[in-house]
Amino acid sequence: MNRLLEALAEICRKHPLREKWLLAPNARAGHQWLEALARSGTGVVNLHVKTVRGLARDLAAPRMRALRISLLSKLGQSIVAQRVWERSARTGGGYLRNLTPTPRLFDRLASTLIELRRAGLSPADLIPERFEAPIKGRELGMLLGLWIEELDRIRRTDHGGVLALALERLRTDPDAAPGAVVALLPEDLELQGLEKELLTTVLAENLIKLPVDSPDSLPDSLHLSFFHAHGEINEAREALRRCLEAGAPLDRVEIVASDKESYVPILHELFESRFWPARGEENASPPITFADGIPASYSRPGKALTLWLEWIREGFPQALLVRMLEDGLIRCPEGFEGPGGPARLGRCLRGLAIGRGRERYLPLIEGRLAALKRRAERQVLACDDEGEVHRRDESRFIAEMEALSSLVGRLLDLTPPLTETTFCVVERARDFLETAVSSRNELDNFARREFLEEIEELNGWFQDGSGLPDLDLWDWLAGLPERTPLLGSRPREGALHVSSLAGGGHSGREHIYILGLDDTRFPGVGLQDPLLLDGERRRLSPELPTARDHLERKVENFRYLLARQRGRVTLSYTSRSVVEDREMFPSSAFGEQLEGCSDVDPERLPLASFTPSSAERALHLGEWWLWRLGESGGSLSALGSVAACHPHLGQGLLARLARDSDRFTAFDGRIAGFEGGPDDPTTQAGPTLSASALQTAGRCPLAYFFKHVLRIEPPDDFEEDPTRWLDSLEFGSLLHEVFHRFISELLQRSEKPKRDLHWDLLQEILRGAVKRYREEIPPPSESVFSDRLRELERAAHVFLVEEEVFGRTGSPVFLEASVGMRSGAIPTALDSLEPVRLELEEGVEIRARGRIDRVDLTSSGRYAIWDYKTGGAKRFGNKDPFLQGRLLQHALYIDLVRERLREIIGPDAEVESFGYFFPGAQEHGERISWTPEKLQDGLGVASKLLRLITGGSFVPTENRQDCEFCDHRACCGDLDLTTSQSDRKLK
Ligand code: SF4
Repeated sequence: MNRLLEALAEICRKHPLREKWLLAPNARAGHQWLEALARSGTGVVNLHVKTVRGLARDLAAPRMRALRISLLSKLGQSIVAQRVWERSARTGGGYLRNLTPTPRLFDRLASTLIELRRAGLSPADLIPERFEAPIKGRELGMLLGLWIEELDRIRRTDHGGVLALALERLRTDPDAAPGAVVALLPEDLELQGLEKELLTTVLAENLIKLPVDSPDSLPDSLHLSFFHAHGEINEAREALRRCLEAGAPLDRVEIVASDKESYVPILHELFESRFWPARGEENASPPITFADGIPASYSRPGKALTLWLEWIREGFPQALLVRMLEDGLIRCPEGFEGPGGPARLGRCLRGLAIGRGRERYLPLIEGRLAALKRRAERQVLACDDEGEVHRRDESRFIAEMEALSSLVGRLLDLTPPLTETTFCVVERARDFLETAVSSRNELDNFARREFLEEIEELNGWFQDGSGLPDLDLWDWLAGLPERTPLLGSRPREGALHVSSLAGGGHSGREHIYILGLDDTRFPGVGLQDPLLLDGERRRLSPELPTARDHLERKVENFRYLLARQRGRVTLSYTSRSVVEDREMFPSSAFGEQLEGCSDVDPERLPLASFTPSSAERALHLGEWWLWRLGESGGSLSALGSVAACHPHLGQGLLARLARDSDRFTAFDGRIAGFEGGPDDPTTQAGPTLSASALQTAGRCPLAYFFKHVLRIEPPDDFEEDPTRWLDSLEFGSLLHEVFHRFISELLQRSEKPKRDLHWDLLQEILRGAVKRYREEIPPPSESVFSDRLRELERAAHVFLVEEEVFGRTGSPVFLEASVGMRSGAIPTALDSLEPVRLELEEGVEIRARGRIDRVDLTSSGRYAIWDYKTGGAKRFGNKDPFLQGRLLQHALYIDLVRERLREIIGPDAEVESFGYFFPGAQEHGERISWTPEKLQDGLGVASKLLRLITGGSFVPTENRQDCEFCDHRACCGDLDLTTSQSDRKLK
């Protein structure tokens, strides 16, 4: 036991039943002393912990009740300071008025005035000549006078006022003083001004001073250790590693941080993410207690409030609302509250091209919802150039969009505009916290309650008739999470305790770690109070502490803290900032203790970094692996161990080795037993092939495997480009639809296309389609929409001009014909649900399908197949018409259409050509066509591809360009590596 506890134990033995008041710097420290005594077996009957503030409040309570006054809160201090400042402005003045009024200044003013009151000074005591400038003294005197007046008016008082009331009561009512109480005052307890007077007046006769350990020498039983660390996080980790190594139970350890802003969040996060055994149980408490609590910014309501305010201030950016949803900060509608629900809504929102702007949310959400409902009715989303119909189940998306609509509508209803400056802002924040914010654990519940109480108190100040001068309500709300500490606690059984240098080191635990003893943190810089400089303080009263006093007191408290310990104390500092990548240095206090330890070499202090120095010191599996890899130099043996412990990683390593080898393995796309199986397209029951599927196999057999064997589809996200309306598939679908309707209309009228005659008709059809697409897919902005509309109009115009010329040589007979699939909106005679059997080579037959944009009857009596392409023509002019299997649509369609024509027209029906028509802006109506003779090798190429497929060889492409627009990029990882490995093996 230290001297204080020994003295206390002695008193308890001497006066076992007598009432005893133990004066402590704070209630938590006092109770820790009592617990330490109890643990040592000393009876602590009738021993009550008191603080000077508490004592003064108890004594002043009857007077305060009689006068109906209450103690000013922290928030009240700031508001009263603002009011006082405002009132003083009306009287003129010019010295202090030059300072910019900020919330910080008002907080500073409040503490200076309270300090003056605690020192027992009145406005009359602020003699102007004792200030640097007499005018400043007069102004400060006036401010103090106004402060007292305002407190009287609103029936509140400050700590100085409570002390004065307590003293007044003792003077007027001697019976108020405690009688036979033994008052115990530790020698190192810091008292100032009226506090001293109160203690000497009240307890003079009964006061017993308790000796404490001298700060000038350390007890023999104290064992000091030292280390330094790279970064604060490693400093905190090292403290925990040392506990682990020493086998110290958590409840025998106290960590004292010189800077709670840095170390408390680190320790909180470490425990939350690594050492919380009941992680996942929302209401379980982590095995750590924080004397000063943790900032409410760590709670969901804290995060939600911060992001909500940011969302408003930054013009409602979509990304912030997505983040709030994905982080589970917002209460979601029924059916979406569980795991994954908020993230689904976040993903749904992410796909809408909202960008920012409050007014854009609901129209875009509603627009998308209406489009989804229409699509669900039609059951068809879009049809690509190759006739592949994309279908999907819309019901899930509709449910998500409806939930999103209700959530965003509710959120916007309670969100004020940034221009709002009245108290309504705070009221809306209260509604937001009460109805919209998610709260899942104890921390969240406390945070929300604290915020609502603060808001309620502010409301009280607002309602009292004097308003809230100069208070920026947005700033006030934004600061709430950071300035609200939560769950401050005494040391708890089974939990590590974290305290600060100012109030720590009272737990009596055997293992104390003092973190943050670098020279930037401890003792810190002693900044003078700009409202009352050190010189002025000294001249006014010895009871006014100066900045220097504060610094000296901090250092002395540190020595007292060390002196009262009896077990192991470890001192540490950060020697390198890993954030700023700069060297840091120990404080003089650290150096002083180090010097006193002759057995420690200051040049060889242990250094803590990300990697623990031994396996026993690893805090978690990740650290163990860091140690292991560091030990073995990251050799393969370590990788072997990884593979043994984690089979999925082992599979990954095996795949890597296989791909690096010269063999063609399963990891390179070799699938055994594929031939004759359910996915073999050459069997009777095998899948029907489209040109698109064959071309995919030609581009990359692995992509074919992913898409047509494993049936892996990319996530059905509504990813939209804020700079473009309609992706290329939608753009092409719209134009196909317009051309189809236009040509169908002309066929009905028996007219040939003519620019002068039909441009209005084509424009009308285009406008109708655009209107519908716009309803389904809202454009990100009007300018983006206009750009795309111009593009569509240009393409339509090119189409008409070209058709006028081209129409002289042939006439369309089949439009949007569907072979091997369901008919489109207007069925044609060429349609057939049954696929067409094509013999690629002798004995190798496939069943083929396709959607043909258009078949014309030419002047020669034969048929020309046309396919509209809205992209570029570059790749179609190649000498190799099949692009090594990447282009087979032309060859396949010639055979497909010929077969159907012969079935419905007669055995003499002949196809004259297949061509692509490019009405888009890039190609201005270019046409590229082939005769069947030129494409006669096409089925042979298709046959080779088929052999690859049936043989189960799904090797990735060796050409990196093939991956450019592939849907399966995410499956292939490093595309350069994948394609180069394939290239090597193919060679
Ligand atoms: S990303 Fe490249 S290698 Fe992978 S499947 Fe697609 S085309 Fe083939």
